Amino acid sequence: MPTTDTQTPTYDLLVIGSGPAGRRAAIQAAKLNKRVMVVERGHRVGGVSVHTGTIPSKTLRETVLNLSGWREREFYGRAYRAKQDITAEDLGKRLQITLDHEVEVLEHQFARNNVDTVFGSARFLSPIACR
Ligand SMILES: Cc1cc2nc3c(=O)[nH]c(=O)nc-3n(C[C@H](O)[C@H](O)[C@H](O)COP(=O)(O)OP(=O)(O)OC[C@H]3O[C@@H](n4cnc5c(N)ncnc54)[C@H](O)[C@@H]3O)c2cc1C
Repeated sequence: MPTTDTQTPTYDLLVIGSGPAGRRAAIQAAKLNKRVMVVERGHRVGGVSVHTGTIPSKTLRETVLNLSGWREREFYGRAYRAKQDITAEDLGKRLQITLDHEVEVLEHQFARNNVDTVFGSARFLSPIACR
């Protein structure tokens, strides 16, 4: 548990943002036995990488390659398709499952390392205080 002084929890490190940078900083500090809190203003942890950047773009690309049967055409011929009509719903479903999995992995990583998370927008009140 974080140390409490007049009921206010204190941490060795406050990380603003749970994207790749915040995640690495938080986990590394926790592994050095620091008390860490991550503040995230989004609805879920993960940052741009998980929610709008790296994972979504690569998941959509892989889903299209997979459903179109692109990689198997060398064996089965140019007309081969794993799914005849690829819809936005097909892509959306696969994307949601992948993103949920990524968020779950990150949540477990924080929990395993005793990193606390809180949702809200952090701002500095002074060079050493944050709200
Ligand atoms: C379309 C796209 C594709 C990409 N593909 C790749 C790729 O293939 N490979 C690759 O290496 N990189 C890729 N990137 C880049 C990669 O996503 C970023 O480099 C990475 O997300 C940056 O991580 P970060 O932790 O610095 O910031 P972010 O991921 O932006 O995380 C910052 C977090 O801080 C939170 N935050 C900000 N201010 C506050 C505040 N005041 N209080 C609380 N929370 C706050 C935000 O909500 C956010 O969750 C891609 C980016 C895009 C847009």
